[in-house]
Amino acid sequence: MTNEMKVLVKAHAREGLWLQTAPMPEIGPDDVLIRINKTGICGTDIHIWNWDEWAQKTVPVPLITGHEFAGEIVELGRNVEGLALGQRCSGEGHLIGKQSRQSRAGKFHLDPQTRGIGVNEQGAFAECLCLPAFNVVPLPDEISDDIGAILDPLGNAVHTALSFDLVGEDVLITGAGPIGIMAAAVARHAGARNVVITDINQDRLDLAAKVADVVPVNVTTDDLADIQAQLQITQGFDVGLEMSGNQIALDQMVEAMVMGGRIALLGIPPGKSPVDWSRIVFKAITIKGIYGREIFETWYKMIAMLQNGLDVSGVITHRFGVQDYAEGFAAMKSGHSGKVVLDWTAL
Ligand SMILES: [Zn+2]
Repeated sequence: MTNEMKVLVKAHAREGLWLQTAPMPEIGPDDVLIRINKTGICGTDIHIWNWDEWAQKTVPVPLITGHEFAGEIVELGRNVEGLALGQRCSGEGHLIGKQSRQSRAGKFHLDPQTRGIGVNEQGAFAECLCLPAFNVVPLPDEISDDIGAILDPLGNAVHTALSFDLVGEDVLITGAGPIGIMAAAVARHAGARNVVITDINQDRLDLAAKVADVVPVNVTTDDLADIQAQLQITQGFDVGLEMSGNQIALDQMVEAMVMGGRIALLGIPPGKSPVDWSRIVFKAITIKGIYGREIFETWYKMIAMLQNGLDVSGVITHRFGVQDYAEGFAAMKSGHSGKVVLDWTAL
């Protein structure tokens, strides 16, 4: 192995990412070095590419971006046990502290000291990634590198969808981006009765209907209330999964919920957004904010479901060699793609 590697880096404080050379990371005693095979482009990476307000105040320059990956272990720190060279893996991209009350209680995903690879720390858009062994998630043989590279967003979908009991329930998902679509597939897999997914982008709704057994509703042309009536959802949806960050979508969701309904919020509104709290109170609705995924319970659940018939492979619509990364980002930005996967093996 040479001591240099190719990386996709935020090299300048302006729009874009750059394919450059960086030193090979040196691992500590508790880390592993992972040779990256495939990476997924996330909405977060688009924010970083665009260099929007959030990115400017969050991301240091220069920084190797990317946090969705699959690869294999090529070096082990001297303290690392239970992992082997050649082990295929993905991993949790949130680097947690061990001091907080939440961490010490085993609620690692609620640790306030969390730092993200590819956002605050050097990321996975690289030939090699240094990761604490604690964060490594081994991949069973039946999970491909392509799927391994989208386990991070699948984890968001699984964490959101499994926040509430779905068995026999009518589920409304607002936002048919990749995570919304995967959440729909998970909800079906977990035993929901009806899963309705709304968006204003017909391409995304078509993809949703292809990937999962769901009812797509384009709210620019169809009335959600009509669909509810057709499906004999007489009193409203039992569970809502808000994936769009769109104020109108959340408003429609609250309106469409049953008394005592439960809503999980993953979508991030662009700023402060007005909410009619009185309806939430009078409907006795429970709202839960979702951040990341439960470490490592969500990982366990999603791998088990993938081994037991959950199929989200159709959500990957584009694949590029990493040298064509600009095309991959353009596909993501077009709004007509599902997940875009970059291949690092041909470099
Ligand atoms: Zn992501």
